[in-house]
Amino acid sequence: MNEMKTPYFLIDSNQLDELLEDMKNSFYSFWSNGIIGYSFKTNNLCSVISYMKDKELFAEVVSSDEYLLAKKCNYPINQIIFNGPAKRKKEFIEAVDNGAIVNLETKRELRWLLDCNKEALKKSKLGIRVNFCIEDYCPNESQCGEEDGRFGFSYEAGELKEAILFFKEHKIKISGIHLHCSSKTRSLNIYKAISEVALKVIKEYSLDLNYIDVGGGFFGGVEGKPTFKDYFDTIYKILSKDVDFTKTNIIIEPGMALIGASMNYVTSVIDVKKTKNNTFAVLDGSRIHIDPLMRKSMYTYDIIRKKINLVNSKVDQILCGFTCMENDRFFKISDFMLNETDQIIFKKVGAYTISLSPQFIELHPDIYILKDGQIELVQSRKEIENFRMEGVYK
Ligand SMILES: *Cc1c(COP(=O)(O)O)cnc(C)c1O
Repeated sequence: MNEMKTPYFLIDSNQLDELLEDMKNSFYSFWSNGIIGYSFKTNNLCSVISYMKDKELFAEVVSSDEYLLAKKCNYPINQIIFNGPAKRKKEFIEAVDNGAIVNLETKRELRWLLDCNKEALKKSKLGIRVNFCIEDYCPNESQCGEEDGRFGFSYEAGELKEAILFFKEHKIKISGIHLHCSSKTRSLNIYKAISEVALKVIKEYSLDLNYIDVGGGFFGGVEGKPTFKDYFDTIYKILSKDVDFTKTNIIIEPGMALIGASMNYVTSVIDVKKTKNNTFAVLDGSRIHIDPLMRKSMYTYDIIRKKINLVNSKVDQILCGFTCMENDRFFKISDFMLNETDQIIFKKVGAYTISLSPQFIELHPDIYILKDGQIELVQSRKEIENFRMEGVYK
């Protein structure tokens, strides 16, 4: 690891194994035939996707392009869960006709159902995504507060009822409901609300479902946060009051919980410098690679010191990235002086980083996978020769 050029990402596949085993053991102990779909958007590296496929997870995709990526990664269509508003008609119809689990999200998809194969529709696995006011159930925990989440057909505004009536009117079976909610807290309360709303919707519209999809949004491998067992226990306790699990299956769609904790980002100090009021340790990595939305306020990290200073002075140093943005700053350390070539390893940065990180100033770093003590390069840094050369004026 010492010779590898920083910055780079390192996927810890043993950690991934452990988390996934833990999730599976816990989930299947409640629902032995439950379905786990891996949320592609969280980290869409081909090596990560094929890992999840190897472990028999379904593909959870939220656009036509992700759906095509799943097919490209050899997913059979009946192991794809097709969600989100970004489905195109062609892929929507193909997915419905070939047995994907498709959760409808928009009115145009309702109309597209009429263009699907009539025979296939009888065997289809179609669900409706339910929008409900999560803020009412979990004050201050939802992402959008009083402005409402925007996904799915609203229970409160009556659009869910209209969608259900559309299915009934055209004699198309509603196989499932989908209730994924992203929250600020990932708390057990969120899943309590999801389960309660599921029961309410099933009762109110007399639905006879093959599945309830509770979505993703779990913590995984984070100390002090709910465990997989805590989440599934919460869901089980509520749903089991009214749901017969021999008829109605449970689907979950984890992303962050699996890949978040399993990936590190390794950077080196390239300079330590003083200014009038401050001292900076400049890294060859950047916050844009691990916190593209610039929202993180806490980091889990290790520091590898290449040499120990004889005189230990305690000086505040601000760690900052290589970009030209002044807000490309991580955090402050004061216990010892950093030196050039010391390494900072940021931990648990696998979710939403690779897929969201921009090619700003530097191209995407190398990505390695660590497996049983061996390190393998899974995606190499593009060299500038291959970068956006199409359409160059010659
Ligand atoms: C993003 C997303 C997920 C995964 O969410 P995590 O917070 O990464 O677990 C699951 N389902 C849907 C529909 C999503 O949009």
